[in-house]
Amino acid sequence: MDIRFDENILKMEALYHHKIGDSSDSLFFILNPDVDSLKIQGVNLNNFLIHEKQNRPFPYLKLNFNRVLIKGEIIDLHFSYQIDLVKQNHLNSDWIELNLDKFWFPNHNDIDNKFTYELNIAGLPSDFTLISHIDADIKIDNSNKILIQKRSPDIEVLILAGKDMRNWKADSSSQITFIASKHTPDSLLHSMHEKVFQSIKFMNESFGKSNPIKEFKVVLRNTTKKEIGFQFARKNMIITASDFNSYGNLSHEIAHFWWFDADFIKEPWMNESFANYSMFLVLEQYDPSTFTEIFNKYKELSFDAPAVDQATLFSDDAYNSYYIKGSILLKRLELIIGKSKMNELLELRITKRINNTEKLLNELEILTDLTTRNLFKRMLLE
Ligand SMILES: [Zn+2]
Repeated sequence: MDIRFDENILKMEALYHHKIGDSSDSLFFILNPDVDSLKIQGVNLNNFLIHEKQNRPFPYLKLNFNRVLIKGEIIDLHFSYQIDLVKQNHLNSDWIELNLDKFWFPNHNDIDNKFTYELNIAGLPSDFTLISHIDADIKIDNSNKILIQKRSPDIEVLILAGKDMRNWKADSSSQITFIASKHTPDSLLHSMHEKVFQSIKFMNESFGKSNPIKEFKVVLRNTTKKEIGFQFARKNMIITASDFNSYGNLSHEIAHFWWFDADFIKEPWMNESFANYSMFLVLEQYDPSTFTEIFNKYKELSFDAPAVDQATLFSDDAYNSYYIKGSILLKRLELIIGKSKMNELLELRITKRINNTEKLLNELEILTDLTTRNLFKRMLLE
């Protein structure tokens, strides 16, 4: 894949190497409908059109071929288009954020599709610092051409870039690196560092013991919460901003280090509610008044929310279920089985790589008894 930054226009040339799953004469790709000058070329490709796909609120293209593509066959598709970064992104605030949510790269079939990639970047202004996956290999040559090689399959092509950034540590031996604007005051970085440090320490020493966080990166966007109102986590890196400076925000995002491996489309509560439950634990320790405030708010919001077990990423009113109600139920489970058994359950989820509800219930039963399993299962279903 080649991209070139040309003022505020990003020019994209992507060669998509695809192995056919089930035989079919069409393929679906997710791509932002606001890209300009879109061309797609490929052998046997007839045409492409914007097309909806059941149960998926994404912008899809349906590519129609003039013959059936056979299972196992490998095809090459060439996508070429432009993205206006001022319209589509945040270049006007010295911050570029191209990730999964932007649908900026052609993505086959669904948002959890995993792939490897090689990306050449040209024209990124020299005062911008590029940030990508923590496990990507990044090479920058003398003329500021950048090559990103991502060899382990992942769900996105990730490009973050900010103007006038610097790496900052609270002290030289710290395992936590902040990547922030040069204009972010040290006092603010120290304040955020303290919360990140304490949150990691707390979780490393409790449920995270078997797989503790060692090195950690905190990316502070060059823009405000008002412009991009959410944070996200990618393994041992979180992408946030200086106005997310609270134990609640930071500990939730850090906790995803342990809670990311469930199917985020089918059972998002296994990731999000566990991150919120971890946040509760950190808040109880370091910011009890906020804990009470958030817990009461969450309790209220979960009152009318649909069953957690039924909440997929796209089902109706799902957010209050998978994000909020699930964490309240985990807190209720903690009251039933006790803090120490609850901690054991979280530890087991990590050591045994428990990544779905059924397996979690099995562990709960082994740890407690059938009655508790059935009770918690009922809570998830109501
Ligand atoms: Zn989250």
